[in-house]
Amino acid sequence: MKKIPPVDLTRQYEHIKEEADLAVLEILNSGSYVGGAAVTSFEQQFANYLDVAECVSCNSGTDALFLALKALNIKAGDEVVTSPFTFFATAEVITRVGAKPIFVDIDLNTFNFDLDRVKQVITPQTKAIIPVHIFGQPVNMTELMAIAQSHNLYVIEDCAQAAGAAWEERKVGSIGHVGCFSFFPTKNLGACGDGGAITTNDRAIAKQIRILKEHGSPARYRHDYIGLNSRIDAIQAVILTIKLRYLDFWNEQRRKAAHYYQELLQSISPLKLPQGIAGGDSVWNQYSICIDEHLNSKIDPDSCSVTLRDRIREQLLDKGVISMIYYPIPLHLQPVYQDLGYQKGQLPIVEQAAREVLSLPIFPGISEAEQEQVAYALKDCLSEI
Ligand SMILES: *Cc1c(COP(=O)(O)O)cnc(C)c1O
Repeated sequence: MKKIPPVDLTRQYEHIKEEADLAVLEILNSGSYVGGAAVTSFEQQFANYLDVAECVSCNSGTDALFLALKALNIKAGDEVVTSPFTFFATAEVITRVGAKPIFVDIDLNTFNFDLDRVKQVITPQTKAIIPVHIFGQPVNMTELMAIAQSHNLYVIEDCAQAAGAAWEERKVGSIGHVGCFSFFPTKNLGACGDGGAITTNDRAIAKQIRILKEHGSPARYRHDYIGLNSRIDAIQAVILTIKLRYLDFWNEQRRKAAHYYQELLQSISPLKLPQGIAGGDSVWNQYSICIDEHLNSKIDPDSCSVTLRDRIREQLLDKGVISMIYYPIPLHLQPVYQDLGYQKGQLPIVEQAAREVLSLPIFPGISEAEQEQVAYALKDCLSEI
């Protein structure tokens, strides 16, 4: 039985091996390893790709979000509205600048936060909104920007999982005041190590971020702020430059794979398959389904901590299919956020998602045969319950 991994990065590397090996060797021979032309050139090309005025590279997606909040002067006493269904870093940086994350419940069709609920939690303390284009599925940015404008709020897009995704023909990361990207290897545009970037059409914000990411220093050995050391290596910059040329092609492969799953799985009626929304062009960083916890009436979902989803995941593993759970604990229920005062049951939809969601293997280069094996395994598991 063939094992199917949740993600296989070697297939991307095989595709670019020759040019990537050469480019990395060139950097090794150049003696210039941090910053320099390779980094500047990548920043320009990524800005062009997104059709945005400025791109500032940094060490990670987490730093990108942190730098964006800092540059916009978000601080203690401020509130920032975001999704509870995201990687922890999105909220972590809000807390790190001293502000308070405000979580709103999600829409189970897109896994993105629900814009009607966003409107309801805005207070005089709210300074910014962080939409997360989760799993590569864009948030409705037209509606979100209208909400933000009417309350005079900043919008910082968390595009970590959505490089190349578009809302109504505009790439995410070019619509809000600031866009934040991660180049962690498993993201749609992934380096062979850590990396991140901030994108913006606002030259003043970009300038401030460049100062902050270099120890708060606008000129050598002069320091106006307490900043960070956050930069990307030249080796990562050349790899990203090469991979950027294939990003649309690889995203198209993800789209095709998502459509094929849709075709294979739609007849398995108890499964809830991911739905896009009109206007949003997802880049499918994940293909996440929901397995209804009430499917098996013999299991009382409230009485056991192992959900039906967990059991199916185990059974899939026996059939060689490695699936993932993004995310098992919504952020409002994280131990570290107990002091925010959220109760279990307060955001019921995201809590349901955390119990039901299962992400199936998807990555550029996944074969139809592999997807068929996933689908058959899933059918088998469901027929056994
Ligand atoms: C990966 C990720 C981040 C953090 O990016 P790093 O490069 O790992 O720091 C932030 N937000 C989301 C939604 C992510 O998926």
